[in-house]
Amino acid sequence: MSSSPPDRATQRGTERRLMRMVRAARLPLGGAVVLGTATAVLVVAQAALIATAVSRAFMDGAGVDALQGTLIALAVVVVARALCAGAFETSGRIGAQRVMGELRDRLTAHVLHVRPVGSPDRRTGELVTTAVQGVEALEAWFARYLPQAVLAVTVPIVVLAWVIPRDTAAGLILLVTVPLIPVFMVLIGLAAKAKTEQRWSTLSRLSAHLLDVMRGLETLRANDRDGVQVQTMERAGDAFRRETMATLRIAFLSALVLELVAMLGVALVAATVGVQLANGDLKLETGLAVLILAPELYMPVRLLGQQFHASADGMAAADRIFAVLDEPASVSIPERPVPAPDPERGVVELDDVTVTYPGRPVPALDRLSLTLAPGEHVALAGPNGAGKSTATSLLLRLLDPDSGTVRCDGVDLRDVDPSDWRRRVAWVPQRPTIFNATLEENVRLARPGASASAVRHALIAANLAELVAGLPEGLDTRIGEDGRPLSAGEAQRVALARAYLRDAALLIVDEPTAHLDTVSADLIGDALWSLAAGRTLLLVTHRLHLADRFDRIINVDQGRLVVPASVPPSAPPVVMT
Ligand code: ADP
Repeated sequence: MSSSPPDRATQRGTERRLMRMVRAARLPLGGAVVLGTATAVLVVAQAALIATAVSRAFMDGAGVDALQGTLIALAVVVVARALCAGAFETSGRIGAQRVMGELRDRLTAHVLHVRPVGSPDRRTGELVTTAVQGVEALEAWFARYLPQAVLAVTVPIVVLAWVIPRDTAAGLILLVTVPLIPVFMVLIGLAAKAKTEQRWSTLSRLSAHLLDVMRGLETLRANDRDGVQVQTMERAGDAFRRETMATLRIAFLSALVLELVAMLGVALVAATVGVQLANGDLKLETGLAVLILAPELYMPVRLLGQQFHASADGMAAADRIFAVLDEPASVSIPERPVPAPDPERGVVELDDVTVTYPGRPVPALDRLSLTLAPGEHVALAGPNGAGKSTATSLLLRLLDPDSGTVRCDGVDLRDVDPSDWRRRVAWVPQRPTIFNATLEENVRLARPGASASAVRHALIAANLAELVAGLPEGLDTRIGEDGRPLSAGEAQRVALARAYLRDAALLIVDEPTAHLDTVSADLIGDALWSLAAGRTLLLVTHRLHLADRFDRIINVDQGRLVVPASVPPSAPPVVMT
């Protein structure tokens, strides 16, 4: 997502994709077109009836009795117009909600299934801005701009069709001046587009920065950098304010210009009608109707001009949303997936895999091969940055290798649906996420359909029985940010409980005791080894204090297998695969 304005081809692409999305809400938006046309007809009918009533009252001295029919018809038309306007607005909103609902689903699905993992913090602020403000801005485009665009077409066509045969001169003036408004609008819109784009990228930067500061607040305070951050935030906020004012200035200016064109048009029509009336070339009734209709004709076009702000914002938002949706998938999803192989029966292997992260000069994994036999307990050891997490991401199919193959039981995992495969794997990450929910819901995440006793059993197995007993509402206690905070060790045990509940044949555990004191580490260790019994275990670690408990230790460094220069006699042999 660059901050430069997109080229015309991209813009056309965006428009085409937006229109394709409109098809999802064909019915309500089709309804809006029908209602828009009905509104236009009612506008003409209202003007004609008012003109008739007024001219008959003045010219023929008709009383209320004589005008009864016209007045009743006028009342009916006015009520019908109000109803039409209400229904028109509603159908626009329903359509917008449908389209936006679908778009939100697609964004969520994209973030959950397709978006690259590994660095979830990168651009999270930007993504949040796109998902929340972006979708909202686009909603305004669908709910307000698009229906207004329908009216801006139907009303002038119907009004001109009525006026031209009755008063050609006024009709021609209207015909010539009305298109001037969209022409000016497009010109101003082009100037505003770049500004709006710029505003979006500043807002995204601001969100990303705010998120950064919030996350690192303690570090910033400890290093006495909080004051500097306030200044940086102020500068970023200021830039955003200036850019918002610049777009608003364009919006006000455009409203003024459009108003001016409309006013001049109405004045010209009034003058023409006046001259024709004076010459006796035009009936008062027709002249009055034309005078009433002239501003009515400009109104929807002018309102559309005022909505241009929503339009420019919506288009910029659409560019960003589509850019997110177009991010390449981090894992391929097969069209005809084969059933997921079972790690309980077949060897899991990385075969000559290479992974290079975008923008990185050296590969994170460099032609690495390793195997995990069913039931084998293997440690993956190596210093920070060795590529251990990347290897686990491959095994979890959160990532596809650039070259080489990840297999289980001889089946290339690229041919398997990633979700299907992940059901066969239990994962205990280094810093498990604890969601803002009850303890039970947090554990149940691993298997939503699990019975209450299975959840309880998993908690006991993960050495959490004592914690549960001490909680005010037991399993129903809310944990996480809004509830009772968990210590690192407790969070880790919740993750183990999830793994128990998942009951998968392959268990992948990332540095479970890295940040824990010995008591917590022992609690985890016990739970871990009972969980690993009878399953294949890959434990990622940079310390090998539990070396003797593994069948095999695989050492990696800089993305490659390494054989230690000297093997201490007490350590088990390093087996390369
Ligand atoms: P380990 O788990 O052994 O610490 P990683 O697999 O996390 O190692 O990282 C291996 C290398 O890849 C490191 O140099 C790391 O900086 C880089 N890396 C990891 N994740 C990403 C990512 N999402 N984007 C770019 N580089 C990454």
